[in-house]
Amino acid sequence: MLPRSLSHLSDRALAEQLETLVSRERVHAAELLAHLAEFDARKLYRPAGYASLYVYCVKALGMSEDVACRRTIAARASRRHTAILAALADGRLHLTAVVTLAPYLKRLPRQAAVALLEAAERRSKHDLALMLATRFPSPDVPTSVRPVMPASDPAATERAPLTTRPDTPSSGSALQVTPMSCTSAPARISDVSMTSAPPLGPLSLAVPPQPPPQQIRAQVVPLSAERFELRGTISRDFHEKIQKLRELFSHVVPNGDAFALLERCADEVLVRAERRGTTRASRVEADGTPLAVDPEHRQAPEALRRFIWHRDGGQCTFVSESGRRCESRERVELDHVVPVAKGGRTEAGNLRLLCRSHNQFEAERQLGPEFIRQRRSQAAQQR
Ligand SMILES: [Zn+2]
Repeated sequence: MLPRSLSHLSDRALAEQLETLVSRERVHAAELLAHLAEFDARKLYRPAGYASLYVYCVKALGMSEDVACRRTIAARASRRHTAILAALADGRLHLTAVVTLAPYLKRLPRQAAVALLEAAERRSKHDLALMLATRFPSPDVPTSVRPVMPASDPAATERAPLTTRPDTPSSGSALQVTPMSCTSAPARISDVSMTSAPPLGPLSLAVPPQPPPQQIRAQVVPLSAERFELRGTISRDFHEKIQKLRELFSHVVPNGDAFALLERCADEVLVRAERRGTTRASRVEADGTPLAVDPEHRQAPEALRRFIWHRDGGQCTFVSESGRRCESRERVELDHVVPVAKGGRTEAGNLRLLCRSHNQFEAERQLGPEFIRQRRSQAAQQR
């Protein structure tokens, strides 16, 4: 039912209805998570043409990226710990708490995980952060100084080179280099009200697990049709490589701008890769399609791999029964349409690009889950 004017309601009725709606929403949210968890366990997003539950939530169910991410994490946590659903349904836990706890729950023994869930009940986000920091302390965050671009001079972003030296007078940089522990640190404990925190629960662990590692990918945010902001964290090694590049290419990039250097490196790598793709094509068909030296061998030569990559547009080629082609361009792999185990040959007509998820799906469909399980366990033993 669509929202209508509520001005006729008494204050008391309004408060009562609000409470009812919140309770109902919690129950629905828990039911939704249970359904997502089961959908994920059956991997039903794959036959529908999606590479993951997250992508399915965004593209098929119309969730925003952050909501899809949080619900995916919470659904998987609730699959392992079903008590989460009951706690969500009656309001003992909120979704943020489940998402925050999920990486800890994965690493803890079952009993300790259950105790942690109980200890987290009815806590605000800040109280929960304080509880986790107390139970699983992190090392101190080192002090750092970051050069910051004055907001009043956006044009300086264009001009200023990368600088990693806090004492550099220009201090303007499109790409700031800061130790990772600074940028990826969780909510500061000093931000949490110490006085309002409820007493901590009785859970204690002989060996507290390390806080989960922060996995942060570089973020690319469009600023306009032609301009993008790139923000991320680099290793010390990478930083030193940039310094070397700055010296080596000082004649072509005099201001030492890191992005100009990286773009130049990308150009060179791409030209080399293109050259390799054509010069190594030792055998080709009449129409120029590269051929494998031995089509019965699983491995495809680089020229053939590159040919397939261009032909399929670097994108997974899986198409669902409803005709939807998977849009994934990440972790795309070369796949034999007819598997080598069933006599399939390594030639262009029998090769295609599939994302990791659909490659596994097709392998299970053609060879059976038991065959794939045995092959994986053999590969693990060999490693
Ligand atoms: Zn795919």
